[in-house]
Amino acid sequence: GPSLSTLVRAAARDRPDAPAVVTGGRRLSWAELDAEVDRAAAGYVAAGLEPGERVAVQLPNGVDWLGAVLGALRAGLVVVPVNTAYTDTELDFVLRDSGATLLVAGADRPPVAGVPVSVGPPSGDGEPPTRAERPDALAFLAYTSGTTGRPRGAMLTTAALRANQAQCLAMDPPPVRPDDRVLIALPLFHVYGLNTGFGLVAATGACAVLVDGFDPQGSLAVMAEEQVTAVPGAPPMYQAWLAAADAAGSDAQLRGAFAAVRLASSGAAPLPPEVWTAMRERAGVTVWEGYGLTEASPVVASTLATGRAKPGCVGGPIPGVELQLRDTAVHSAAGENEPVAADDGPGEIWVRGANLFSGYWPDGADAPDADGWLATGDLAYADEDGDLHLVDRRSDLVLVSGFNVYPAEVERVLDTHPAVAESAVIGVPDARTGSAVRAVVALRPGLRATFEELRAHAAASLARYKVPTSMHVLAALPHSLTGKVSHARLRELGLSRAE
Ligand code: ATP
Repeated sequence: GPSLSTLVRAAARDRPDAPAVVTGGRRLSWAELDAEVDRAAAGYVAAGLEPGERVAVQLPNGVDWLGAVLGALRAGLVVVPVNTAYTDTELDFVLRDSGATLLVAGADRPPVAGVPVSVGPPSGDGEPPTRAERPDALAFLAYTSGTTGRPRGAMLTTAALRANQAQCLAMDPPPVRPDDRVLIALPLFHVYGLNTGFGLVAATGACAVLVDGFDPQGSLAVMAEEQVTAVPGAPPMYQAWLAAADAAGSDAQLRGAFAAVRLASSGAAPLPPEVWTAMRERAGVTVWEGYGLTEASPVVASTLATGRAKPGCVGGPIPGVELQLRDTAVHSAAGENEPVAADDGPGEIWVRGANLFSGYWPDGADAPDADGWLATGDLAYADEDGDLHLVDRRSDLVLVSGFNVYPAEVERVLDTHPAVAESAVIGVPDARTGSAVRAVVALRPGLRATFEELRAHAAASLARYKVPTSMHVLAALPHSLTGKVSHARLRELGLSRAE
């Protein structure tokens, strides 16, 4: 399959004058975008970069990001997209781990790890390089955001990315059609924004309405102005849009922004059912939830694939992706492995498909097994329709006297307490029960709750072994960019140590 830069070239040939990108008042046709990509590709070649070399790109959503990344692909380079929120320490790690020889960044970026910096995409005006494109060639090293420890570079080939585009577009209706104007407010440095956002736009020749940095008011205005028709989203976006309408005391702007939207979706983190319902009632839009992971380029399942939109549900495998729920073993806080049976509760999601990664950089560690299957580490159950509901990550499960405690279930109960703004449940080693349940909570401003009150609240609706036996109060819980509470971060902070 063709790479993202080859898709851009094809769109430039097929519909040169059609709009490719709209961003901050700038409009580029496919021919103009293709020329940007050529310029950057020639710039990399002029700078002496050879095929297979890694170039890291740390830029906000915008034309420069597209030029830098697609130009690198056109020059046969491997792109390491870098989170714009990374600190120097995190950037240093990714640059060293990937062996990047160039960092493309904004003007304010001092050099890190001795890697030379190009301010914006390099620019050359020679003939664009003619480097043969191999589908099995590595295109991206996508570093997972590290909510489960140190970031690891998932090796994604051109073929894997292309496979996931084709799988997504085989759904009915397809998430992107050639006449769509697609809001890309998701960060392009993550494979969700990169391949499900821009990749589907490039594959169809649609138009990307790029937004940098999520500002709810601003993005609603852009959506209405540009008559956006498709919205690949994540839970924090929908939450922020609803909160903006609450603050305005009216849903008029929200409704206006979604008036032309034919398809809105959500992925990356659980979409709270009340947000799903509010979007339907207040914005008049059905949010199609999906599930994916970086290692799958990224989409695995979607409610769009089954045609059954339900709150709290991620649907079924997309066309061309196989999925199984298998028994699994979990690591308890005490360190032993204990089995979790799929038939007496959730199983672990295993995936197979041409969209899967080739293991982690540099040696292909933890690649799909000999039969092509990958264990995702995510636990789910299927409902009576066969639709999947995600439960928790395997690594977050807490084993109390051999019983599985699913943090999300306990968190849902804690969150209904009026004083609780947000909660997270983690395991702490316990001499008697192996692990014990600890609640980490952030309280609503001006409200308080004692551990005894929260314990009683939980005990009213949960079996005894699920009820927290200790509590920590934090001002705020740590989140990943996609809005997930990071249980691993809480463990790193030492909150899972026994007292
Ligand atoms: P890391 O893998 O290092 O923790 P990360 O969470 O950012 O970082 P991603 O590949 O971005 O890695 O996220 C994939 C994970 O996101 C999935 O394994 C799953 O746990 C979670 N996820 C994705 N979609 C959903 C969804 N619809 N509901 C709940 N969780 C989801």
